[in-house]
Amino acid sequence: MIRKFALLLVVASLPFTGCEKIKKLPFLSKKKAVEATAPPVPSLATGPIAPPPPVVAPPVPAKAEPTSTVAAPAPKPEFNTKASVIALCYHRFEDRPKDSLAIKPSEFEQQMQALADNGFTVIPMADFLEWRRGEKEIPAKSCVVSIDDGYRSGYEVAWPILKKHKYPFTMFIYTNYVKGQPKSGGQSLSWSELEEMRDAGVDIQSHTVSHMDLRVKKGKTPEQYEQWLRDEMVNSKKMIEERLGISVKCLAYPYGNHNAEVRKIAIESGYEACFTVYGQRLTYHSNADQLGRYALESSKPQVFVSAIKMIGGGGAGSDEGGADMSQMAAASMVTQPMEGQTITESMPTLKVNLATLGEVDPASIAIRLSGVGPVPVKFDPVSKTVEAKVTQPLKEPHYTVILSAMVKGRKIETRWSFNYGPAGGGASTNTEAPLPPRATPAKH
Ligand SMILES: [Zn+2]
Repeated sequence: MIRKFALLLVVASLPFTGCEKIKKLPFLSKKKAVEATAPPVPSLATGPIAPPPPVVAPPVPAKAEPTSTVAAPAPKPEFNTKASVIALCYHRFEDRPKDSLAIKPSEFEQQMQALADNGFTVIPMADFLEWRRGEKEIPAKSCVVSIDDGYRSGYEVAWPILKKHKYPFTMFIYTNYVKGQPKSGGQSLSWSELEEMRDAGVDIQSHTVSHMDLRVKKGKTPEQYEQWLRDEMVNSKKMIEERLGISVKCLAYPYGNHNAEVRKIAIESGYEACFTVYGQRLTYHSNADQLGRYALESSKPQVFVSAIKMIGGGGAGSDEGGADMSQMAAASMVTQPMEGQTITESMPTLKVNLATLGEVDPASIAIRLSGVGPVPVKFDPVSKTVEAKVTQPLKEPHYTVILSAMVKGRKIETRWSFNYGPAGGGASTNTEAPLPPRATPAKH
C-alpha cells in the first residue's frame, strides 16, 4: 500500500507545475478540418453535435466479411497507425467518495492536469473512431475521457473541470437511468440536460438499457437470451439517437463484462467500438469489440499511474496486491500471435517472451485462452520464452490470451487478443468465451 502511494506521489508531484503546457495541446488546432461543415459549437470545439453526414461512408473492408468485423480496416499505406490511446472511465465525482464508483473532484482535476503534463492529447471519441477507420491521424499519445451511467455529478462537477481544460469527453448513459425512466433516481440526468451537453459538444453514447450484466442468462432460453441482448444494445442506441438526434456508435458494457455472444451482437447492433473496464493501451489493431478503459476511483490511485504509463490490466478491482512495476514490463512483452494479428493456423503455438518481467517463478506461469481454458505451458529459462500449444482446433473469429505469473511474490496478469480466420472462412461462433471478469466492481 505504502509503496503504491509512494509511486503515485512521485508521478503525481511531477506534473502539476506547468500549466502552460496545456495551452499547447495540439488537438485544439486540429479540429477545424473535421468541424468545417458542422454548426458552430459553443464551448467545447470538439465532438459530434450532429449525426455525421449520412453519405460518403468510405468502404470498410472488414465490415464486408462476416467473421472479421472486429478487425481493423487496412489503412492507406502512408497512414500512421502507430499512435497509442488510453481510455479513462469515471462514474461519480464526490468530495467524500462513498463507494468505488466515486472520485474526489480535486483528484479528478489533478488527473486531468497530469494528462497534459505527461504529453497526452485528449481527443474526442469521434477522432478515435476516425483514426480506427483509417480516416484521420491522431497524436502519438492520445487519451479518451469517458463518464459512465449518467450521474448528475458528471454534469455538475466533472464538466466544468473538463471545460476548463478544453477536453472533449464522452458520456456513456444507460437509458433506464435517465430522469423519468424506470430506474432513474435523485442523481439522474434529464434528457434536457443531456441535450445541453450535446449542444456544447459533449459526446453521448450507450451503456445499454438496464445496466444488467450482459453475460447473465438466468433462466432464458438461448433465443430469449439473444433477443434480450439485442434489446439491451439496440434499444438504448435507438432511444439515445431518437431523443438527442445523434448517431450512437459506441457501447460501454455494464461492469465491463462480455462474452463471445455479447460481443457478436454488439457489433451486429451497429456499434463500432465497445468498451470494457480492463485498462490497457489501445492501438490501431485493438479489437473493436473489447477496448479496455482504465476505471478511475479515489480508492485506487495506482490505476491512473498505470494509465499514464499505458500499463495493461488497470481495470477497477483489477488486482488486490498491486503490481505496478510488473505490469509495466508486461506491456512490452513480445507475443505470438501479436496483438490484433489474424492467423490461419487452427492449432497454433502461443508464445510469449517474459524477459522484461524480471524474476518469474516458472511454476506459476499459466496461460488461458478464451473459449478454450488453460493451455499447458513450457518455459525455457534461458530465453525466458513460454510456449503453449493449442491442442483443440480454434473455431472462433476472435481469441483473448491471458497470461499470469508470480514475479517476486506478486501475481501479474496480462492479456492480448488475436483473430482466427481459416483460409476457407466460415468460423462458427457457437462456443461462448467466458473472459474472467477481472474488473468487476460492485456497481458501475
Ligand atoms: Zn456503468
